[in-house]
Amino acid sequence: MSVSDLTAVVTGAGSTRGIGRATAHALAAAGWNIAVLDLDEPSAKDAAHEVAERHGVATVGVGCDVTDEQSVEDALTVLDGAVPPVGALVNNAGITSPTPFLEVSGEEWDRIFAVNLRGAFNVTRRTAAGMTERGFGRIVFLSSVSAERGGGVFGGVAYSAAKAGQLGFTRALARELGPRGVTVNAVAPGLIDTDITGGALEGDRKAELIAGVPVGRNGTVADVADLITYLCREESGYITGATYDVNGGSHMH
Ligand code: NAD
Repeated sequence: MSVSDLTAVVTGAGSTRGIGRATAHALAAAGWNIAVLDLDEPSAKDAAHEVAERHGVATVGVGCDVTDEQSVEDALTVLDGAVPPVGALVNNAGITSPTPFLEVSGEEWDRIFAVNLRGAFNVTRRTAAGMTERGFGRIVFLSSVSAERGGGVFGGVAYSAAKAGQLGFTRALARELGPRGVTVNAVAPGLIDTDITGGALEGDRKAELIAGVPVGRNGTVADVADLITYLCREESGYITGATYDVNGGSHMH
């Protein structure tokens, strides 16, 4: 089976400057067909259109709230017949929040967990069965350096806890699905230049953070997209249950 006969689903790939859209491009350049699921429907369609135009693969863009099981079900139904079967899933949709623990509300905590963890559950649960039936699959989670070092970049306790939850999800699922040809890995980016912080990380704070990065810059979406594409290769089948840092050396362990 070749990746050109399969589709990679990338959640949250609508964001123009985001990791998801760059990943959709990188996977398409490697031959994958692409399905974009994003809360923002016009941006999902725009991303799908852009990827098809640039790489000549089959694509589909669907509006989808990953936190809502029915919305995920409806979105994945749109894929049937429109693009080849799902061979890879990148659980990229995510939200962050810097709220200090003593100020965080239960609602905010739940929202962070809903997108980062329950959302990943909804899409993974619905796509993993087909992968195991075909005996091939690649699942990648977008965790964060915040999960490993306990926040300290931008995200607070809720974000760090949800991203750490993804690491347990990755490892346990890797153990279960390994015998069926499906690998499950996580990437843990450091500070990447996107819009996720809504412009809140600028000026002195940004300079301070970059001073702590041995390679002397913040990361680019291409840095992360390239690593994810590597993990999705057919040849990467002996890599599973792993967490790959992509943080410029800002956290080593
Ligand atoms: P971004 O804000 O640019 O993009 C996130 C996308 O997710 C948006 O297109 C948004 O519409 C979508 N989304 C949000 N809630 C959704 C929902 N309920 N259903 C469907 N789509 C939804 O973010 P980014 O910086 O590209 O981050 C991508 C992933 O990488 C996130 O999981 C983030 O936590 C993780 N990450 C980012 C950084 C960083 O520094 N940018 C660092 C570590 C980890």
